Amino acid sequence: MSRKACVIGAGPNGLAAAIVLARAGLQVDVFEAEPTPGGAARSMELTLPGFVHDFGSAVYPLAAGSPFFTSLPLQDHGLEWIHPAAPLAHPLDGGTAIVLERDLEAAKCALGEDGNTWGRLVQPFVERWDEFAPGVLRPLPSIPNHPWLMARFGMNALFSAKTIARRFRNARTRAMFAGLAAHSFLSLDEPLTGAFGMLFAVSAHAVGWPIPRGGAQSLTNALCRYLATLGVNIKTSSRVESLAELPGYDAVLCDITPRQLLYLAGERLSDAFKRRLERFRYGPAAFKVDYALSRPIPWKASECMRAASVHLGGSFEEIAASEKAVRNGQHADRPFVLLAQPTLFDSSRAPAGRHIAWAYCHVPNGSKMNMLEKLENQIERFAPGFRETVLARNVYSPAQLESMDANLVGGDIGGGVMDLRQFLFRPTSRHYATSAKDVYICSSSTPPGGGVHGMCGYHAAMQALANLGIR
Ligand SMILES: Cc1cc2nc3c(=O)[nH]c(=O)nc-3n(C[C@H](O)[C@H](O)[C@H](O)COP(=O)(O)OP(=O)(O)OC[C@H]3O[C@@H](n4cnc5c(N)ncnc54)[C@H](O)[C@@H]3O)c2cc1C
Repeated sequence: MSRKACVIGAGPNGLAAAIVLARAGLQVDVFEAEPTPGGAARSMELTLPGFVHDFGSAVYPLAAGSPFFTSLPLQDHGLEWIHPAAPLAHPLDGGTAIVLERDLEAAKCALGEDGNTWGRLVQPFVERWDEFAPGVLRPLPSIPNHPWLMARFGMNALFSAKTIARRFRNARTRAMFAGLAAHSFLSLDEPLTGAFGMLFAVSAHAVGWPIPRGGAQSLTNALCRYLATLGVNIKTSSRVESLAELPGYDAVLCDITPRQLLYLAGERLSDAFKRRLERFRYGPAAFKVDYALSRPIPWKASECMRAASVHLGGSFEEIAASEKAVRNGQHADRPFVLLAQPTLFDSSRAPAGRHIAWAYCHVPNGSKMNMLEKLENQIERFAPGFRETVLARNVYSPAQLESMDANLVGGDIGGGVMDLRQFLFRPTSRHYATSAKDVYICSSSTPPGGGVHGMCGYHAAMQALANLGIR
């Protein structure tokens, strides 16, 4: 008789888990609370008709470079990656911008006196991405397949971004590294922020920072279509309120965060395990705005048009101050803003000649502060006249983000703070396993953490299969 598994949540990790289980021959049911699958990888018309926005994630180095997703025939199911001319632009005061080139030699050349230092930092991992990615996108501590490569990464990774940035002579390079490291939602003097900076830099050269044609939903749709070929359909608008609703499964994989697991599975978990889940800490939140625009963003530095991703925050010191404030529960006056401008490279997402933009800044978890003016001031600072191009905007506060996807607890988009402790023990030392032998957690609250790569779901499902004696 075939074994049965179910997956709660059809985010990228839930879908990855369902694919692994179905490919191993299990009969799989997927339950998704929202009307559309994808979690924080969905697209919708949030402003005006014909303007297709990404509700959550928008730019995908880790999906395009994911050891699991790249093993799937997603291109056959409609996924097309678009690579902008450059992965990233970082404008500075004075009307100039640093552009991170995808080609490492071109990047070294553009970084001038810091080129060789940059090369030493990232080159070994860029050249061996196929070995590096599986090593870095997995639980630690565990013995990697390429221990020397990973040890070399680890030697830098434990440093803070501030420590690594000191190696650069030019303030422009330091500013760019701050922007890369600020994806961590940590203060840039904390350990591991160097690792975030390096991972995003390495991926820029090894993979690029692509966007899917048509938006995030195209990636999700390709995963769902592939899943359908394995005989799995997703039951949407099906919020699971308790594991007691789901009897008869050999394995239950939960693409949800610890707080939700406590609510759904509380009576199935031991008291000791529940206490450990209760200690899990959520991270800062995002305050997000989507724009319908009459024309492209009028950047002072025209090089910003070469990249879909733009980091707005100025110097290393300024970005570090803004991230430190947020980590200390405060709101930055000049927040670090992450901006995407996909229609420069994908005209399918807006009516002819029109554009969209996606931008967010970091705020304390659960913040109720309206950051719209401060966020737009940062865009105006580098693109004067931006406000005049706005046809419509949609604002998501942290609470509104959570209302669209229950995993975004308090607006935390990373599934829990990723400091050293929760990097090692995510969400507990058991990682994917829980105290109930058939219940697993597979969301970004497990290793390797936030981002669209599906590796949390992949590893959780592999562990479930091993425990069932199937691999
Ligand atoms: C604004 C924003 C910007 C981001 N930008 C990027 C980016 O550019 N690049 C990148 O790589 N990552 C980005 N991320 C992060 C990335 O989207 C997440 O890390 C990733 O989606 C996590 O996948 P997941 O499957 O763990 O969870 P989610 O994508 O959150 O999916 C969880 C799913 O579970 C469902 N669910 C929850 N509870 C239940 C229940 N009780 N019953 C049934 N279903 C349930 C939810 O509805 C949801 O569909 C961003 C996220 C946000 C919100």
